Amino acid sequence: MRKLLSVIVSCYNEEETIPIFYKEICKVSKEMKYIDFEFIFINDGSRDNTLNVIKDLNKKDKRVKYLSFSRNFGKEAAMYAGLVSSRGDYITLMDADLQDPPSLLEKMYKLITEEGFDCVGTRRVTRRGEPQIRSFFARMFYKLINKMSNVELVDGARDYRLMTRQMVDAILSLKEYKRFSKGLFSFVGFKTKWLEYENIERVAGETKWNFWKLFIYAIDGITAFSTAPLVISAVVGFIFCFLSFIMILVIIIRTLVFGDPVSGWPSLVCIIFMVSGIQLFCLGIMGQYLANTYLETKNRPIYIVKESNIDDKKN
Ligand code: UDP
Ligand code: MG
Repeated sequence: MRKLLSVIVSCYNEEETIPIFYKEICKVSKEMKYIDFEFIFINDGSRDNTLNVIKDLNKKDKRVKYLSFSRNFGKEAAMYAGLVSSRGDYITLMDADLQDPPSLLEKMYKLITEEGFDCVGTRRVTRRGEPQIRSFFARMFYKLINKMSNVELVDGARDYRLMTRQMVDAILSLKEYKRFSKGLFSFVGFKTKWLEYENIERVAGETKWNFWKLFIYAIDGITAFSTAPLVISAVVGFIFCFLSFIMILVIIIRTLVFGDPVSGWPSLVCIIFMVSGIQLFCLGIMGQYLANTYLETKNRPIYIVKESNIDDKKN
């Protein structure tokens, strides 16, 4: 029986890039004649003409399927929705902007079918075309999260990957609301091969991420996969208790030996500022975890579909 490959593309305001992307992926599907394709476009609440562009493609090509959200739920939700709706034996996640070259697909497929990998991921070895400060923070983030958590995140790894049905089912069995896919892929395990390539700039349109969004995403990633910040805040608290104990002893002895001249209020103010700052910081860390627990217990849906041409019998 012929196998099916699902290509999942999350799109947010991508009216310019989708036609270019479609052309490229069609070229690849022609080269890979031995397998059937389905293209699942997830319209993540775009404000432009993205949905109509996808619908037009669907009129010409029945392999094009779509799912349109009621609002923008974010790329994580879009990727999850794609995985839920996919039927393929092999599943790939791609961006619409051709930063994930579809031409790699055939090589990825061969690695899975001929060399026994469960997943082929991609990572970019350069960050050309990206602001330096962003690259710096990205590197810091990977160093930090790899130290703090026991899932392994590869620096520069993209979401672009080809997976077997078995691995996708494993990912779908993780039902958490706050999804950090890079971590989830690593959490489920399976044998992964990494392909490396140079960073490619998007063909048209512009990036949907700014520094602040990436920063929040990084914090989400760390809190989702590590509780180390809680331990660190407890250790800092302990160190400060210890220091204050020693300081109390020093002051008592000094007063007994030298009397008690009134001095030192500036240093006192500094200490109060610093300690209360650290307290607030630790409280903030705890708040993050509490907030995440709160969100998970609400059990809200990860995305809401407004319209689709996929008859969803699963889930
Ligand atoms: N995207 C999405 N929802 C969002 C933001 C982005 O589905 O809220 C999609 C976007 O359309 C693109 C992919 O995610 O296909 C990657 O986004 P982008 O190219 O802006 O990110 P970058 O490559 O700059 O990290
Ligand atoms: Mg991009």
